Amino acid sequence: MDELMDDAQSADNGGTTRRTVLQLLGATAGITAVGMGEALAAHSEASDGDGGYALPPLPYAYDALEPAIDEQIMRLHHDEHHQGYVDGANDALDQLTEMRQNDQFDNIKSVKRDLSFNLSGHILHTVFWTSMSPDGGGSPSGSLADALARDFGSVDAAVDEFCAAAKNVESSGWGLLVYDHLADRLLVTQAESHNDLAVQGATPLLVLDVWEHAYYLQYTNDRGAYVDAFWDVVDWDAVGSRYEAVTGADILE
Ligand code: MN
Repeated sequence: MDELMDDAQSADNGGTTRRTVLQLLGATAGITAVGMGEALAAHSEASDGDGGYALPPLPYAYDALEPAIDEQIMRLHHDEHHQGYVDGANDALDQLTEMRQNDQFDNIKSVKRDLSFNLSGHILHTVFWTSMSPDGGGSPSGSLADALARDFGSVDAAVDEFCAAAKNVESSGWGLLVYDHLADRLLVTQAESHNDLAVQGATPLLVLDVWEHAYYLQYTNDRGAYVDAFWDVVDWDAVGSRYEAVTGADILE
């Protein structure tokens, strides 16, 4: 645990972690190195370097987001829940390897379902940790602010739509701000579970976990208060960097 804390505290919030997420996002969206610069060349902490997945260290201390999100939630959420999705994704890959080796695909539907659920969970949690910062809050700036105003009418309107989406996810899921490469625009979407309602190919820029495990120990059944407190720790700089990195990347050519 101490080793993990040291890793978390020594991580460069604006460098290593951002590069990791950009690399992960690029790989997910099928983006080539074009437009992503050296980001894709760097080893990703969210992968194991051998075709599998790994739990990236939290880029700040477990209690760093208090009072918005308390230490106990962050510790369980990162170390137990996120780790579970990493393990589930790797287990699905192992099962697929075994299927190919045995030329026996009877369980293909359930394993592909497991892969979609767990890998989507891994990706969204990796983006989630770096959507927040102890120095977060405030307002977006630069090209992200311009794009939010362009695509939603105003930054406030975009935040309002995001809040409504997050608060009204049916059961467990996520609120997301994503970049749609096809129309070169931002969209607010919902995810039920981790993978239902996904817009294929859209890159998540800012995500908020609204599974009960993300807030119940602190907020009990008041998801709305948790969603409202999220804006005190949102790392708009990280979201803006992700937006600038993916803007204009044509993944469908
Ligand atoms: Mn979660």
